[in-house]
Amino acid sequence: MRKKIVAGNWKMNTTVPEGVKLAQDVVAKLSEVPSDVNLVVAPSFVHIAQVGEVVNGTSVGLSAQNCADEVKGAYTGEVSAQMLSSIGVKYVILGHSERREYYGETNEKLVKKVNLALAEGLTPIFCVGEKLEERKADKHFDVVGEQVKEVLFTLSAEQMANVVIAYEPVWAIGTGETATKEQAQEIHAFIRATLAEKFGALAEEISILYGGSCKPSNAQELFAQKDIDGGLIGGAALKAEDFIAIAKSF
Ligand code: PEP
Repeated sequence: MRKKIVAGNWKMNTTVPEGVKLAQDVVAKLSEVPSDVNLVVAPSFVHIAQVGEVVNGTSVGLSAQNCADEVKGAYTGEVSAQMLSSIGVKYVILGHSERREYYGETNEKLVKKVNLALAEGLTPIFCVGEKLEERKADKHFDVVGEQVKEVLFTLSAEQMANVVIAYEPVWAIGTGETATKEQAQEIHAFIRATLAEKFGALAEEISILYGGSCKPSNAQELFAQKDIDGGLIGGAALKAEDFIAIAKSF
C-alpha cells in the first residue's frame, strides 16, 4: 500500500505568528482526517522551529521547502539538511519549479540535495513538471522523464524507497488552472512506468503527489485516480479549513 500524503507548501507566506496559528488550526482539525492520510506542512525556514513545536507529538509531519547542496561550511544564507534533521524536520521539498526557475536549481544540484537529504534521514518530496510551452509542444513526457532519470535514476533502490515525487505542471501552479484528472493520471502513470524501468516493482510503492491549483473542489476526482497518491498544495494550504477538506478528499 502506497502512503497517502497531503503536503502544504506555504512558500514565502505568513508571518511567524500567523504560521503558528495556521499550524494550530490544522492540528485542531486533525481528528477529521482519515488516519491513513499523512499530513505534512512546509513553512519557511524561519517558521520551522516554532511550527515544529505545534506539530510535535501529532501525526503532522514537518517539512522544509529546500535545503543546501553542500554539507556545511562557508555557504552564507544556506540551510543544511543536517540542521533540518537536528530540529525534527522529516521532509524536504526539492526541485520545486519556482526554485528551478528563479534560483537556477539544476538537476545536477538536485542530485546533491536529494543525496544529502536522504543521508540525514529526510524524505525528499521531489518535484517534476513541464512548462506550458512544453505541454503545448507535446514535450511533457520528455521533460518529466528527463527530470526523473537525471536525478532519481542516480539513486539506489534503498534510497529511492524513501523518496516522494510530486508532479506539478508549471502552468497549473498558482494559476487556478488544474490539470484534468485524465491529464494528471496519464503522466503519473508515465512517471511510475519510468521508475519501473530502473527500480522494477519498487515503482508501485512510491507515492506520487499531484500539485497545481489543487483545492477542495477538485481534490476528490484527482485523488481517485489510480496513480495519484495525494497532493502538494500551495495556495489552498494557507487556510486550515481548505487544507483539511483536501485531506478528507480520498
Ligand atoms: C505548489 O507550488 O506546490 C502548488 C501546488 O501551488 P498551488 O496549489 O498554489 O498551485
